[in-house]
Amino acid sequence: MPPAVAPDRLAQTIVRHGLRQTPVRRAVLAALAGKGYALTGAEIELETGPGTDRITLYRTLKSFEQSGLIHRVIDDSDVLRYAACSIECSADAHFDNHVHFKCGVCAHTYCLSQVAIPAVALPGGFRAERRDYLLSGTCQLCQPTP
Ligand SMILES: [Zn+2]
Ligand SMILES: [Zn+2]
Repeated sequence: MPPAVAPDRLAQTIVRHGLRQTPVRRAVLAALAGKGYALTGAEIELETGPGTDRITLYRTLKSFEQSGLIHRVIDDSDVLRYAACSIECSADAHFDNHVHFKCGVCAHTYCLSQVAIPAVALPGGFRAERRDYLLSGTCQLCQPTP
C-alpha cells in the first residue's frame, strides 16, 4: 500500500494541474492517492466523509479527469472507477498508458502504472483514441501463503 500523501503535496498537485485547491478537491485527491487501487464514486464519497456535497464531489471528479489528475478505470463490472494518476505527474507529462489488474479475491482493480500497454498493430483505417487493458487474476496481497 502506498503511504498517505502529505496535504501540501496534494495541494501542490492540484495547483500544478491548473486547478484551484479547495477542501473537497484535497479530500478527493487524498482518498484516491492513498489507495493503490481504483475507487468507485460511492467509495470516494465514503472516504471523503458525510460532509461532502455529492454534486461538488462529482464535479470535482469531472474536473480532475479533464485536468489529468485522475483517470477512469474500466474493469469487468458495470461500475465506473477512478484512480489517481501518479502524484508526481504533471498535466503535460501525463502517463496513462498502463495496464489495470482486477483481483478476483479482493475485487480491487489496481493501476499497474509501471506496466505499459503493449503496442497493438491496427488494420488500416482504424485509429485508437483510448486504450483499456485489463488483466485479471490474484493480486500480491491475495496470493495464498505456501
Ligand atoms: Zn486481491
Ligand atoms: Zn490506471
